[in-house]
Amino acid sequence: MNDSAATTTPETAKRPVRMAGATEGGGADAGVDVAKLRKEILAELTYSVGRSPETASKRDWFVATAYAVRDRIVDRWVVEHTGEHAKPLKRVYYLSLEFLIGRLLFDALNNLGLTEPTREALAGLGIDLNEIRQEEPDAALGNGGLGRLAACFMDSMASIGVPAFGYGIRYDHGLFRQGMRDGWQQEYPEDWLSFGNPWEFAHPEIDYPIGFGGYVEQVNEGGQPKQIWRPGEKVEAVAFDIPVVGWRGRHVNTLRLWSARAPDPISLDAFNRGDYVGALSDRVRVESISKVLYPSDETPNGQELRLRQEYFFASASLQDLVRRHMEERGDLRTLPDHVAIQLNDTHPAIAVPELMRILVDLNGVPWAEAWAITNATFSYTNHTLLPEALESWPVPLMERLLPRHMQIIYLINALELEAARAKKPADDALLSAISLIDEGQGRRVRMGILAFVGSHKVNGVSALHTDLMKQTVFRELHALHPDRIVNKTNGITFRRWLAQANPRLTKILIDAVGVEVLDDPTRLEMLADMAGDSGLQEALAAAKRENKLALARVIAERNDVFVDPDALFDVQIKRIHEYKRQLLNILETIAIYNAMRAQPMRAWMPRVKIFAGKAAASYHSAKLIIKLANDVARVVNSDPTVRGLLKVAFLPNYNVSLAEIIIPAADLSEQISTAGMEASGTGNMKLALNGALTIGTLDGANVEIKEHVGDDNIFIFGLTAAEVEARKKRGYDARAAVEASSTLREVLESIRNGVFSPDDPSRYAGLVDGLLDHDTFLVTADFDAYFAAQRSVYKMWRDRAAWMKASAINTAKVGWFSSDRTIGEYAKEIWDVKPAS
Ligand SMILES: *Cc1c(COP(=O)(O)O)cnc(C)c1O
Repeated sequence: MNDSAATTTPETAKRPVRMAGATEGGGADAGVDVAKLRKEILAELTYSVGRSPETASKRDWFVATAYAVRDRIVDRWVVEHTGEHAKPLKRVYYLSLEFLIGRLLFDALNNLGLTEPTREALAGLGIDLNEIRQEEPDAALGNGGLGRLAACFMDSMASIGVPAFGYGIRYDHGLFRQGMRDGWQQEYPEDWLSFGNPWEFAHPEIDYPIGFGGYVEQVNEGGQPKQIWRPGEKVEAVAFDIPVVGWRGRHVNTLRLWSARAPDPISLDAFNRGDYVGALSDRVRVESISKVLYPSDETPNGQELRLRQEYFFASASLQDLVRRHMEERGDLRTLPDHVAIQLNDTHPAIAVPELMRILVDLNGVPWAEAWAITNATFSYTNHTLLPEALESWPVPLMERLLPRHMQIIYLINALELEAARAKKPADDALLSAISLIDEGQGRRVRMGILAFVGSHKVNGVSALHTDLMKQTVFRELHALHPDRIVNKTNGITFRRWLAQANPRLTKILIDAVGVEVLDDPTRLEMLADMAGDSGLQEALAAAKRENKLALARVIAERNDVFVDPDALFDVQIKRIHEYKRQLLNILETIAIYNAMRAQPMRAWMPRVKIFAGKAAASYHSAKLIIKLANDVARVVNSDPTVRGLLKVAFLPNYNVSLAEIIIPAADLSEQISTAGMEASGTGNMKLALNGALTIGTLDGANVEIKEHVGDDNIFIFGLTAAEVEARKKRGYDARAAVEASSTLREVLESIRNGVFSPDDPSRYAGLVDGLLDHDTFLVTADFDAYFAAQRSVYKMWRDRAAWMKASAINTAKVGWFSSDRTIGEYAKEIWDVKPAS
């Protein structure tokens, strides 16, 4: 790499800085010169976009506005290079293969207090801010909850003043765009960069060499054997920086995304022979590393390219942070004093042996000391207990791609096993449970164990999940290291999920509890005492109705389905996965449909079932569930006997932007996973914050949401995690359960008989048989309890005052689920960093 260039480049986000000029307290927008802003936008339009106001498209206006806002962020960024701010005591490096950031314009405007001034500035030019907002592509560099968590954390770190870099991959193509053809999911490539990205700064001069393959050479150095890795292949990692501005613009951190570049852009030999395709083939192969995001979620990914992505971004990030540390401190041994590296799931776990290689092979640090440094620097967040989702790589693949890392992993393993033996004399079961090498079906490296032993703290993402971690995947390691596992219940950024997504509700909250609520979400608590107030309830109901009208328009546009804004909006939006049990929700929908057909003239409450979510392209059962939802929607929506009292809509292409429209409009939040399988969930928090009541199992963070909002303001049903475990052990008999429930039996018969698939009556025979034969996710076991819980939902819904009170209490009581709280806990208990704000 070009070292001198990299070191002299103005480094981004040395440290978040408290901005002297940032407005405090109330009117964040006060004092901004609208005329000046307008002039800046016009200047950007002319000189950066190259358009005149007469010829500019909406996209041009978006880009010009983004540049104008970016300039103001950069002004704040620059302060960070100067004075004492340039060198914070300790930085956090958040390594994540996914950042599901969504659109950034309103994020930046809101955090800088510029939303209204910008609206005004543009209005004077005849431009509507709400319209140009839609021009920004939704940056979907993630699959779902895990990637969205990383994005919320970046916002919170910049907001509470934790100096941080996020490190990830700049995928040319993010998560696929989901289309529907005859109700079947179609995957289309996503092209968020096709018109450029106004938020990023390319740094072609910040590049690091990343090796793959080759062999390990042992040399002698002063009588000591020394290992040198001679990679057979080299790739360059190039930095692209996105500034992350925190609340009230006080701090600016950096999201640094790596893009793969071939060292040789073209093979001239091949080109001169006339082989034009061959001349570029090396480059295409190398650059494929940062081409696409793997579209899996909670499902395994065995492809070699994925392992290449993991090592590529882990190595580039470590080289970058080690270089910065050496420039600032000059001593690798002090790394843990100034650097905390958080591994978001096991995807970056290869960073553990990579840091060992840097310390031992490249810098001559003795092994034991290197291991102590590594362990004190890393910490790891576990996101799943599903055995099929625990990452592991075949030993032969690892040996071929990363031969030196494989050696290091073997050595770590040997020492860990020896230490375990010393603590608890020879127990083969224990040793094989904690081994880094799974000797089961072909030898594989277990990335979860690697991340665990390489870290000083390992955290789960909800209280229940953390408990289960101790009892299941990490039972033996937990016994050996009883202080290592800690809980950090997930959170969400209220700036995006309340202030930006739901301005109507935000205004009511500010009026009710004061504008300070924007800085301190615990103030929401004050709303609880007013929850019975009819004036407040009416205001909340009116805001909700406006939000529902807006969603109804989207449903009409995209699905050609017309829904009643006064109906109960029952929402399940998340990745489609069997454990999340969208199927359970569809079965209940059919049960209601059957009941309505049986008694068409009963006084049914109008309801709308809203679904959204993507299925991994190779996940056939999940895709069949999408098709079933669409089949049910078609039949129900066109059946005159239900008189429009039940509508079903599966909204295509769920992403952050769509979530921002659906969540403020939701009345009921479906969080109905099989207990013990959802690590935390964050959709549950977003919906409760926006006043939706939860119908859910005691799973993930639902347990803690229940504790906060109280039993009367949530609808809990179904087997607990312990009961699920017991049922499975005992051997669960789905046929008996179905026999015992006439409602469920009728539902399954109608599906099997082709009521919803007259064009292909046997389409769902396999699905129904699967439920009867295995029902891995206990859908049939929980059906009756779920059906009964839905009836209590409607009982409360009929009493609008009671419902609005419960809704207000939900908003009031979930302040704790702010990701600012979560990050505060990480900073204190894992990273040992003091927030600056
Ligand atoms: C919050 C969010 C998720 C996570 O939802 P869960 O219900 O917690 O699984 C997934 N995708 C998007 C776009 C989100 O905003």
